Amino acid sequence: MVTQILKAEGEALKKAAKLIREGEAVAFHTETVYGLGANAFSDEAVLRIYALKGRPADNPLIVHVHRQYDISKLIDGEPPYAMALRKAFLPGPLTMVYPSKGKVSKYVSCGLNTLAIRVPSSPAAQAFLRETDLPVAAPSANLSKHVSPVTAGHVFDDFNGKIPLILDGGACEGGIESTVLDCTGEIPQILREGLVTREMIASVAGACGIYRAKRGEKPKSPGMAYKHYSPRCRTAYCMSAEEAAMLYDQEAAQGGAPCILCESGVVPLLGGRDCLDLGREGEEMAQRLYALLRTAEARVTLLIGIEPKERGGVMAGVLNRFTRAFGGTHET
Ligand code: AMP
Ligand code: MG
Repeated sequence: MVTQILKAEGEALKKAAKLIREGEAVAFHTETVYGLGANAFSDEAVLRIYALKGRPADNPLIVHVHRQYDISKLIDGEPPYAMALRKAFLPGPLTMVYPSKGKVSKYVSCGLNTLAIRVPSSPAAQAFLRETDLPVAAPSANLSKHVSPVTAGHVFDDFNGKIPLILDGGACEGGIESTVLDCTGEIPQILREGLVTREMIASVAGACGIYRAKRGEKPKSPGMAYKHYSPRCRTAYCMSAEEAAMLYDQEAAQGGAPCILCESGVVPLLGGRDCLDLGREGEEMAQRLYALLRTAEARVTLLIGIEPKERGGVMAGVLNRFTRAFGGTHET
């Protein structure tokens, strides 16, 4: 199969919508990361997504709709706080999990009585979803466990020859996946941290919890149980510049090509060693992280990450991805 990369406009949108109606998978730009979409009503199309990614069968998908889509058709009721959150943050990088049974293919939610819905703000995503006018089930457009894609080229690297079309909307400005918020309880509860923070949600809903799976409990958001976002090179995780420099020098002495990924303030402490600069504050680090992990895997033998010290805002989401990419333990 030939994989086309087309700018998300005009005829390309029509072609994408036709492919989705025919049960094919199409990759598309969003403001978080690129998604790999299929018709959420079709069992066959949804199963194709799992097969293409090599995604575990118990890791549910998020359904994407355009801003005019009537989501009451997809859910079994909505608490008042969820309505307020929708008004405040959608379209945008917030996925809301609702009670829902039997509205879309059972493979979307892997048998759970809930459905995760997202209304992306990217104009390219909106144009694609409007043209399609169907709920589109879409995980990130990467092979399972690999780093999420933030350019059309990243999607191509994982799926060349396997999908017919990538709708190119440029680089994703958000850079990490959406916040996933459980809206089935008394108060909203974050299942996966992202660009819409706990503080932002609490300021509208009055309260916001963060879900942490207890030992032995089946996690509410199964995706969070998996190793994730891994670059295809050896990795090491450090807490300080000194520790990173030592590992770097060992690797270099053995003829390897090491590189250090760290926040801007730490770069001057590394004495000219090869570094990838994550940036200074949360939004910037979110935007750069995945692109830098993909750059690193293509050219280094050992990528050494130094845990960023920055906290607050979107850093909870950034740290979650950062530590999981390095096999660290900062699980949320
Ligand atoms: P991805 O699309 O690859 O970013 O992954 C989607 C994330 O949303 C995973 O962490 C899933 O576990 C989570 N998710 C999707 N649907 C649901 C649901 N119905 N309930 C809880 N979590 C969900
Ligand atoms: Mg993913």
